Amino acid sequence: MNREQRRKNKKSKNEKGVSKKQQPTEEQIRDIPEKVALFEKIPNECNACIKPFNKENRMQVATWSVVVRNDINQVRLYCPDCWEKAKAVVQAYEKEKGYGGSEE
Ligand SMILES: [Zn+2]
Repeated sequence: MNREQRRKNKKSKNEKGVSKKQQPTEEQIRDIPEKVALFEKIPNECNACIKPFNKENRMQVATWSVVVRNDINQVRLYCPDCWEKAKAVVQAYEKEKGYGGSEE
């Protein structure tokens, strides 16, 4: 009888000590779909000249400009050419208005 009780004790202890499976935290799970959703929102073409954009192309991903408007939940994409033109337009506009040039 004594022997059996001891054996039972040992067994229950072992069962308790079974290691848990490691699972990702809730935060990690919630983080993933958000990033994927934003990435999927990136257009497949330039917003100005409709040049196709390939998300798999590292060169394009590195050189194209993504503009995220959080307030209206919109993602715009510009190829380097259109981005340069857009910058030039903004600079010309600022010059015309006299920004940054004159000193008073
Ligand atoms: Zn373009």
